[in-house]
Amino acid sequence: MFVGVMQKLSVTIWNEFVHERENAEVARIYPRGIHGTLADALRQRTELAVRTATLDEPDQGLPPAVLDATDVLVWWGHAAHAAVKDDLAARVQERVIAGMGLVVLHSGHESKIFMRLMGTGCHLCWREAGERERVWVVNPGHPIAAGLGDCIEIEHSEMYGEPFGIPTPEELIFISWFEGGEVFRGGATWTRGSGRIFYFSPGHEAYPIYHHPDIQRVITNGVLWARPQGRPAEVPRHVPVEQARQKITAHGPSVHDAAGHLVSPKS
Ligand code: ZN
Repeated sequence: MFVGVMQKLSVTIWNEFVHERENAEVARIYPRGIHGTLADALRQRTELAVRTATLDEPDQGLPPAVLDATDVLVWWGHAAHAAVKDDLAARVQERVIAGMGLVVLHSGHESKIFMRLMGTGCHLCWREAGERERVWVVNPGHPIAAGLGDCIEIEHSEMYGEPFGIPTPEELIFISWFEGGEVFRGGATWTRGSGRIFYFSPGHEAYPIYHHPDIQRVITNGVLWARPQGRPAEVPRHVPVEQARQKITAHGPSVHDAAGHLVSPKS
């Protein structure tokens, strides 16, 4: 699904929606779920058509019709990573490779979807002490950092620290500093096939981080940045010799016939 000139960008915010229903303090911070707060923020932008999806819905919130119509998927998960079906993770991976954008938030670093797309362990170290976090902008010219100052101040946050088991990011946009001394590559991007991926670390459920205007700005910027860019990168296609752009005057032996199928080599 690629976006035309006047067509809205179709955004689906997926949330496992577990902590908000099991913990009174989290429910007080996010009465309509983390997805509800994020949807309110993204709906400020008229060019976005925003829907939400949760784990307990049919097809775990992402039936093929919804996933196929999604231009950018936002993912928040923590307690229920294992409950997400492998088949769904595979379908999301396929959609990303075909061009769908993916924004993975906070504890989504260990989601099946993120780990599958990164191909690494994606582990990190953490501490829940409600300490100060400064999210430093290290790539101020990047569109995801648009409208921000030098750093984002978060009064109470969960520490995420290095080493973070990710492949080297294509772009690093934010590095977080924590009161206890650690640093963390908390805002980074990758490309898989035609799809853009943005990981952003702030967002522990026990703190009102997704109400922070600058955090909402980064997520909005990330969604806009991750929008599909063009046609799918990976389309297998055999090009017969007679369809070559230029006549090939000298070519060696082949073990494939004109249609590209393997044939028994002559002895
Ligand atoms: Zn957390």
